[in-house]
Amino acid sequence: MFQLEGRKFLVTGASGGIGQAIVEVMYKARATLCISGTRKEALERIAKQHEKNMYVLPCDLLNTEEVNQLVNRANELMEGFDGLVCNAGITQDGLLLRMTDEAWHKVIDINLSSTFKLNREACKKLVKNNWGRIVNISSIVGLTGNAGQVNYAASKAGIIAMSKSIAKEVASHNITVNCIAPGFINTKMTEVLTEKQKKKILDNIPMKRMGTGEEVAAGVLFLASDEAKYVTGHVLNINGGLFM
Ligand code: NAP
Repeated sequence: MFQLEGRKFLVTGASGGIGQAIVEVMYKARATLCISGTRKEALERIAKQHEKNMYVLPCDLLNTEEVNQLVNRANELMEGFDGLVCNAGITQDGLLLRMTDEAWHKVIDINLSSTFKLNREACKKLVKNNWGRIVNISSIVGLTGNAGQVNYAASKAGIIAMSKSIAKEVASHNITVNCIAPGFINTKMTEVLTEKQKKKILDNIPMKRMGTGEEVAAGVLFLASDEAKYVTGHVLNINGGLFM
């Protein structure tokens, strides 16, 4: 498997289902990690299971000041900074006609605006290193749209267009910026689906099952690795064939 020996990464949403899998896979590949989320105790529990090279950095992505400082704080704690996995995200679903301004703004702020701010702050550091890896977690619905997820789909589509634009701006500094678009992955986020909804989704997935956090994390590991140095502006579908 790919190795990240000596590399230092910030991972957001590390307390969630996919985030924890990303942390495990990157740590096993010998990266030093700053793990972020809002639940400090959950992050500390994860860090405790690892002997060294893992730092806890709680942050509420709705707090602009905290977000704008997050990369700097990670850089200080790890004594260096090589990349970023922007994985934190929320849903607040509802049909367009009933969607409130609050639900729109909250999802856009956490999923898209914080990703913009973290990518910007990360690139300030990475340009100086002349090396860097950014992996932004989008979603299949950012490519296909989804009824009931106007806000979420817009935020995830925004992440893709933004990542491609940043990729073009920073490519000459050996910084790659890529997205992963997971399909339906077994985590807290998809626990809310009813059995009927799940059956309908599974019927449409060629592989006839939901994905796992580890399957998403494997994609992150590749895109964060040295070997992926000529891959940028890419959207990696990890969805069991649901959308090709
Ligand atoms: P999850 O288990 O619900 O985890 C969400 C993560 O986001 C948690 O670590 C949470 O931290 C963090 N987060 C939420 N609000 C935050 C805030 N205000 N400030 C800082 N962090 C915040 O969800 P998941 O399934 O692992 O999703 C991870 C990513 O994959 C998301 O971007 C999601 O959109 C994307 N994705 C998931 C699926 C899926 O099927 N599960 C499919 C496509 C894309 P705390 O809990 O500590 O607040």
